[in-house]
Amino acid sequence: MTMPLPKSPATAPVTSSAGASVAPPARWPALIETLRDIAARHPDAALASSLAAEDMVLTHAIFGAGLDLGIFTLDTGRLNAETVAMIDRIAARYGRAISVVRPDPRAVREYVEANGLNAFYESVPLRKSCCEIRKVEPLRRALAGRSAWITGQRREQAVTRGELRESEDDPVFGLRKFNPLAAWTHDEVWQAIRAFGIPYNPLHDRGYPSIGCEPCTRAIRPGEDLRAGRWWWESSDSKECGLHAGNLASIPVSVVSIKTP
Ligand code: SF4
Repeated sequence: MTMPLPKSPATAPVTSSAGASVAPPARWPALIETLRDIAARHPDAALASSLAAEDMVLTHAIFGAGLDLGIFTLDTGRLNAETVAMIDRIAARYGRAISVVRPDPRAVREYVEANGLNAFYESVPLRKSCCEIRKVEPLRRALAGRSAWITGQRREQAVTRGELRESEDDPVFGLRKFNPLAAWTHDEVWQAIRAFGIPYNPLHDRGYPSIGCEPCTRAIRPGEDLRAGRWWWESSDSKECGLHAGNLASIPVSVVSIKTP
């Protein structure tokens, strides 16, 4: 059964200057129903938002439909200014604040003193170590005591996400994990953004389909994989930061390779 959408300003489609309404994707009512169901079964569930387009769609769905689900973001200390600014833009648009989780400053200081500020370029282990300190450990704290979390991952984003399910057990953090946009296409995400006038990170207009830390993310070129701009100096099959480490286990053996210089 499809749940009716509340007719609040946050869920009403916007009208273009020419007077034409942009229709939301056909999947929108089902998304609201899925999130409502998650909220009923896991009242302590929260969306881990990267502040990228997919997570803004989920933020709009949660706040716009008045669902009692938490939203948090990880401020690694290395984000673009445009990304950090999204936190205030969300509060201004929806009148609800998202939680901001930051890394342990002592762990950051020790890493930088031992390895250098940008040591993540030197090796995959040093990159993963930085991600562990700035992302994974804060995520572990943000998820502590929860029974489920929600992500904006989609299958078509990367080879590491091709087998992504909409609902799965998370063996890494030991709780239920929901990926309600798993089957959504890039076009459907942007259709929702245009239909509802959802605020989005301006980096998306400059060739960044995926948002991450400033030194580890670049714009992509036409024809490149959607996540080609993330850790672009590494092999595509190692491109997870540890937040979704379970994805690596699902890569077919045939595509797992070690990249040599
Ligand atoms: S994405 Fe880069 S800067 Fe950000 S936590 Fe990972 S290695 Fe560190």
